[in-house]
Amino acid sequence: MKADSAVLQKAEAILAKYPLCNSCLGRQFAPRKDEQIELGEQIRKKIAVKEPERCYLCEGIIKDIDHTAKNVIEVLRGYKFKTFLVGASIPHSIIENEDTLRAEFKLKGGSSLKAEITSAIAKRIENVLKKKFGARNPDVVVVVNPIEKFQTVTPRSLFVTARYTKVKRGIPQKKQRCNDCNGKGCPTCSWSGFADTPSVESAVADYLVPMFGSRKVKFSWVGSEDDESLVLGNGRPFYAEIIEPKKRKVAAAKFHTRLKHGIELKGGKVLEERPLPEVSFELVAEANIEASKPVKKADLRKIATTFRNLDASQYSPNKMKFLTKRVFALKAEQVSSKKFKATIRCEGGTNIKKLVQGNHLEFSPSISEVLGDSCNVNAKKPFDITSVKVVEKIVRKPQPIPAETIPAES
Ligand SMILES: [Zn+2]
Ligand SMILES: [Zn+2]
Repeated sequence: MKADSAVLQKAEAILAKYPLCNSCLGRQFAPRKDEQIELGEQIRKKIAVKEPERCYLCEGIIKDIDHTAKNVIEVLRGYKFKTFLVGASIPHSIIENEDTLRAEFKLKGGSSLKAEITSAIAKRIENVLKKKFGARNPDVVVVVNPIEKFQTVTPRSLFVTARYTKVKRGIPQKKQRCNDCNGKGCPTCSWSGFADTPSVESAVADYLVPMFGSRKVKFSWVGSEDDESLVLGNGRPFYAEIIEPKKRKVAAAKFHTRLKHGIELKGGKVLEERPLPEVSFELVAEANIEASKPVKKADLRKIATTFRNLDASQYSPNKMKFLTKRVFALKAEQVSSKKFKATIRCEGGTNIKKLVQGNHLEFSPSISEVLGDSCNVNAKKPFDITSVKVVEKIVRKPQPIPAETIPAES
């Protein structure tokens, strides 16, 4: 673009009132971002006005842009990413000044100072770090504050799916709340709200957080088990959101490892997309059951026949309603006169303890109910999980209402 006489006239009027740097001057007239500094220089030469020490519009931000970009690039070297987005945080007064100036001199079409800052920094990041500027789903977003001289880098979350096994009893799946503050945060728990006791969650998080250089990890479990249960076989799947990771790739071998407290990671992978919120699964549990009366062979046969593709109802205290849980198969083995072991294959989310005990019809039919005896799981070894399989959701047809419950028409 050439500075014609109309542009020169207007520029002269602007500069008589407001001292502007070449970039802020050229930006008011240049249709393209990469032309503005050159255009600013050209105008200034023609009307013989020197570039001021301090620019009225950008307050020196543009003059300092190389330095600002250098700092951003140094910080970004600590992150592994392919695509990025840049934003700028500048005082509102600066934006207002530019708007007022443009209104006063009837200037239209120039890009804004904010756009200039972000594109100048983005260009330098692309050139130096060889990364791609991408507005859609970028790996990292950097917001620069050129006045206060700092930047915030926010990497996009990653998701991990993996499995764990647990060969030691007494380890809860989830982190336990701090007893002193009940999760609010206090000096005892160093304000974390959590007790410093072992759990699957803390062992896995302690492994994943440094591996990804992330700020924290948020878990979604595919079901849960008792603290005293073992998790055997291929283990239980879970999903973890890796929040603000500095690394985005991890070798598959890293997901096979022994952690603390008899917990082991049994394979996993990084997902780029957030997984679906609810997964359907099936599990096989081995329950150690104690009856109050001696059990006979016929009793064991009876429960095996009853719990074959049976839809039972289970009360969910969280949802405050009864849910249907399918038991696909049950195999019972006598251990001693009053003790037996049941291998139960059932729908995910089935409460194994309640399935055995019944808990006052919170689960019905239960093994206790079918045997007409009160059965309990062993306190020390209640049940172990031997398999968890992610499956397609069970589609339940609406149940027809039995005829006798339909009131006769009057
Ligand atoms: Zn300026
Ligand atoms: Zn506490």
